[in-house]
Amino acid sequence: MVYYPNNQEEEQMEIRPTEINYARELDAGDRLAIFRDKFYIPDENIIYLDGNSLGRLPKETAAILNQEISQHWGDQLIRSWNANWIQTSRQAGDKIARLIGASPGEVLVSDSTSINLFKLVLAALQARVERKIIISDVFNFPSDLYVIQGISHLLNNSHQIRMVPSDDGVSISIHSIDSAIDSDTALVYLTHVSYRNAFMYDMQAVTELAHKRGSLILWDLSHSTGAVPLELNQWNVDLAVGCTYKYLNSGPGAPAFLYVRKDLQDTLVSPIWGWFGAKQPFKFALDYEPALGIDRFQTGTPPILSMKAIEPAVDIILDAGIDNIREKSIMQTEYLISLTDILLKPLGFEVISPRDSRMRGSHISLKHNEAYRICQAMITPLQPNPIVIPDFRAPDLIRLGISPLYNTFSEINLAVHRIKTIVETGTYHRFSKDWLPVT
Ligand SMILES: *Cc1c(COP(=O)(O)O)cnc(C)c1O
Repeated sequence: MVYYPNNQEEEQMEIRPTEINYARELDAGDRLAIFRDKFYIPDENIIYLDGNSLGRLPKETAAILNQEISQHWGDQLIRSWNANWIQTSRQAGDKIARLIGASPGEVLVSDSTSINLFKLVLAALQARVERKIIISDVFNFPSDLYVIQGISHLLNNSHQIRMVPSDDGVSISIHSIDSAIDSDTALVYLTHVSYRNAFMYDMQAVTELAHKRGSLILWDLSHSTGAVPLELNQWNVDLAVGCTYKYLNSGPGAPAFLYVRKDLQDTLVSPIWGWFGAKQPFKFALDYEPALGIDRFQTGTPPILSMKAIEPAVDIILDAGIDNIREKSIMQTEYLISLTDILLKPLGFEVISPRDSRMRGSHISLKHNEAYRICQAMITPLQPNPIVIPDFRAPDLIRLGISPLYNTFSEINLAVHRIKTIVETGTYHRFSKDWLPVT
């Protein structure tokens, strides 16, 4: 509870959590509040709760990309490859390594998350040829599942995909994972924080279970990196991939990263034999020989302009400190849940994210049978209401992403009140039930 003194009577007057002044007090005490100014925020009336899908633009990024275009591309042309472009994949990878508890030389920026999944899954299956089972779960991201289905198809259905169910619709129990892994398991293949409802695994415990039975493990860190502390080396993780355009704020379609633990690098082989993954690309040899170390997981020429947006964005996170970000994220998601319980539950909303913050990432999913139209009304208000940008996830989820570097407690308060008004006044009825192409 936050109290403030009543000047006239020297009494303590309680401010209720639903009042905007309560949120303002929390903002006033927020040590990370200064980081909001590192981002380009042209319109303070837009409440952006979608940083877990596409992070905001850091001011520094715009300056760096302009310089990259005019000086390194415009002036220096192809000479920029030797001057620094050629090192960018490793350099950006090493910076991400600091954020996820990996060592230099264990992380590489390349391709998209889906392509990195393809490369690492096939490499892992080849390292366990005698085993024929891949374990995943029903909360995994569709692209992740499509990739293993495609790989199974490519290998003439020689592998079985074992999908672990959720008992309660909110979490996946570690016991279910434990009983799914056996001596025929080649790979445990999971997303650490679920895109659906932010359910988060105990990565260390699940990794141990996989290793106990001789399986490899691959974690997708797309919804974790930049939001929760990770210790990949300490937890003995084999393989991982992750996105850079969500909490890493590196821009639409920015290339992804992959992690391969040092001792596995020279035993695994990427299935895509491109020249950038070869030992000496500029020897132009006719036969492929893989590079040593993490470089063998490169494919072709990297997208330098997109990749240059990664380092300035990760610097902000390293500067703020991932433990501080996590602490604020927990406070903000807890605040959002408590406001939802008070203001939105009576209107038919249900929180389907875990209530225990130890099992939750940095977004909150609300279920409502009019979720799609309510989202449309949030994004396109009748004047002069604030614009609130959430995510809609089919068929009935409103996803509210909290990015502690720039989201304020006041924004959370205003957003919940806005949702309440939309439902109470029924203004969402003016929207069609047909989904737009990108939700
Ligand atoms: C966002 C996300 C992806 C995206 O993959 P792309 O190849 O970048 O489109 C994949 N997996 C998970 C778990 C994600 O959250």
